[in-house]
Amino acid sequence: MNILVVGEVKNGELRHTSLEILTAARSIAEGGDNTVAACVVGSGLDGAAGELAAHGVDVLVADDASYETYSSEGYTEALVKLAQSKSFDVVLFADTSFGKDLAPAVATQLEAALATDVVQIKTAEGSALHVVHPMYSGKVNAEFEMSADRTKVLTVRPHTFAAATKNGSGGNVEKVASSVEKAIRAVVKEVVSTSTGMVELTDADVVVSGGRSLKSEDNFKLMYDLAEVLGGAVGASRAAVDAGYQPHSSQVGQTGKVVNPSLYFACGISGAIQHLVGMRTAKVIVAINKDANAPIFQNADYGIVGDLFEVVPILTEECKALKQG
Ligand SMILES: Cc1cc2nc3c(=O)[nH]c(=O)nc-3n(C[C@H](O)[C@H](O)[C@H](O)COP(=O)(O)OP(=O)(O)OC[C@H]3O[C@@H](n4cnc5c(N)ncnc54)[C@H](O)[C@@H]3O)c2cc1C
Repeated sequence: MNILVVGEVKNGELRHTSLEILTAARSIAEGGDNTVAACVVGSGLDGAAGELAAHGVDVLVADDASYETYSSEGYTEALVKLAQSKSFDVVLFADTSFGKDLAPAVATQLEAALATDVVQIKTAEGSALHVVHPMYSGKVNAEFEMSADRTKVLTVRPHTFAAATKNGSGGNVEKVASSVEKAIRAVVKEVVSTSTGMVELTDADVVVSGGRSLKSEDNFKLMYDLAEVLGGAVGASRAAVDAGYQPHSSQVGQTGKVVNPSLYFACGISGAIQHLVGMRTAKVIVAINKDANAPIFQNADYGIVGDLFEVVPILTEECKALKQG
């Protein structure tokens, strides 16, 4: 199989999830007569393409000023051409907003099989793939066979695979002539960044989330202080978002983002199923709740029964001290 990893570039930099799907691609390729290549689409891609190539993979680069502003149609067109140019059998995206937007469109145009939010790639037999995808709010894991006779497009949940590390032999960077050719029907006029200057929620290895119990936007400072010490991001329950304490971009759960960090703090969050869907695959979950019977404790690895307004500042100070010492 020829496997194509679709790299994602934000503000000129390669997103970490791109290196995770490179590992996923290599796990598919292992042990068979398979090849792995990567691609990036955008404008001003030298740094990102070089970063991918430094991880030992050949990179196809569609770099043109017409891709400076993201558009689903323009990027889909470019990726379909790239996938067809070398008859790729498998196209891998990270399950980020970028991947979620593009993968179904690319799969449709390639008449490919599509599996989204994949958390496990079980086997690669011949040109067929067996993949696992959580369903019904994470209550069951469904295993799909993606048949050999079709191109396969996958989005892989962030933090499912470890990021590829640099190896000695760099890959080649090949620029391909590409530009937006058709009239784009939906044009992005303005991008308003909601960035807090912290790591992206879906990229973060540590997430500190707060719930309705935070009572105000100002009190979320407690979450930001702990997240900052741990180099993490801040998330929120829907109740906290609906109350206006945090923007919707911070919402974790069924109607928010799915995060998969190494460490997740649920502070004053009851543990409703719609919240759990967004964080239950975190490697370690720490719950802080003053109600010992709160459902979140059933899903937590560590539980602290207590008032978050007392517990979180102590945790922050202790973490600071550990880092300094
Ligand atoms: C279709 C649908 C989609 C949804 N999507 C989402 C989603 O994407 N994400 C999501 O989060 N929710 C979602 N919800 C809402 C979800 O059902 C819950 O209502 C929500 O998660 C509750 O948020 P919470 O835990 O912050 O608030 P609450 O349920 O009110 O829980 C607050 C918790 O804080 C504890 N607490 C109170 N004060 C303190 C304190 N001082 N210290 C420590 N603990 C304290 C309480 O004991 C309680 O357990 C959805 C609901 C529906 C119907």
